[in-house]
Amino acid sequence: MKRRQTRTDLVLTINCGSSSIKYKLFSFPEEKVISKGIVEHIGEKGHNISDHHAGMEYVLDRLIDDGIDLSDITAVGHRVVHGGEEFIEPTVISPRVVKKIRSLFSLAPLHNPANLEGIIACQNILKGKLQVAVFDTAFHSTIPDYAFTYALPYEYYKKYGIRRYGFHGTSHRYVSIIASKRLKKSVSKTNLITCHLGNGCSITAVKGGCSVDTSMGFTPLEGLVMGTRCGDIDPALVLFLQEKEGLASEEIDRILNKKSGLIGISQVSNDFRELIQARARGNKLARLAIEVFKYRILKYVGAYAMVLGRVDAIVFTGGIGENVKEIRDYVGKQAKKVISGQPKIMVIPTDEELMIARHTIKLVKSRRGR
Ligand code: ADP
Repeated sequence: MKRRQTRTDLVLTINCGSSSIKYKLFSFPEEKVISKGIVEHIGEKGHNISDHHAGMEYVLDRLIDDGIDLSDITAVGHRVVHGGEEFIEPTVISPRVVKKIRSLFSLAPLHNPANLEGIIACQNILKGKLQVAVFDTAFHSTIPDYAFTYALPYEYYKKYGIRRYGFHGTSHRYVSIIASKRLKKSVSKTNLITCHLGNGCSITAVKGGCSVDTSMGFTPLEGLVMGTRCGDIDPALVLFLQEKEGLASEEIDRILNKKSGLIGISQVSNDFRELIQARARGNKLARLAIEVFKYRILKYVGAYAMVLGRVDAIVFTGGIGENVKEIRDYVGKQAKKVISGQPKIMVIPTDEELMIARHTIKLVKSRRGR
């Protein structure tokens, strides 16, 4: 009788937003996606999925419909947005970890509560399966103190943990690994600038496989211009607007996070495709929004080239990074002129779920090996 050489493992990845659950089921070692989907409108009026527990039951029903025996699932990998300073690598979820993720709610009030709801729902339904948390902030834990410290009274760092954390870490890590492979260099010898340009946008300086600076900060609001977020502004503007417009802090928060960025400048859309179309029709504000967006990227690339000293490649990912050649050409043209060694310009589609699944299977294997 023939014996199977390798064992197949199924890893489910879960990405819970406040009203959605995105899932993918991978088989290992092939790294093949065997099922995927999204549940939306959780807890919204007029929709029948009342909470994340019900959402997770729905996901598992879809997997059963796809012919999956749930008992075959080896482990579940969860995306968790904020790991604070505590979680610097993927972590097996225990009651202590749950407590700690809860204690980080104040740092990520929009994301961590939803992420934790997904974890708890999975623990209740898929009892006994190994659950792993993969944190968006973890890749940036290597940023040195002079790059993560804000020039505010130091006591606020001690008291509230106010510092740069950075986000999109799983994506920056994934594309930097692929870029090193394409360059045929070891990760530890590769210097990269990775640009994640989707609805949220961030840019990271990666030295020898480690993040050494990134544009998002204490929250995802800092840095590049985004679909609806302003990115860098003079902080005094917040006080100025509060006074002039008589705005409460929630309204200011909404303006900076939801009414600014591409949609704020253009008054047309936060969708880059629509902006390109509006510009072609002669819309001046759509043109300006695109110019501001491009220029902010150029400025950060220049700064990170100085930080890194040598740049092997500038990598573009995310819906805008992967599809808008105009931005890559604009950055690439200037980079070739001013950055020595002429960095390569690369497009690498990101795959955060695959990265989460890989981290999860690694932890599964290390536990098996014990
Ligand atoms: P998310 O951050 O939600 O994952 P995506 O990475 O899908 O978002 O990026 C969404 C952005 O990518 C939108 O602004 C969208 O207009 C833009 N985009 C997607 N495809 C194209 C395209 N072919 N041309 C220009 N922009 C695109």
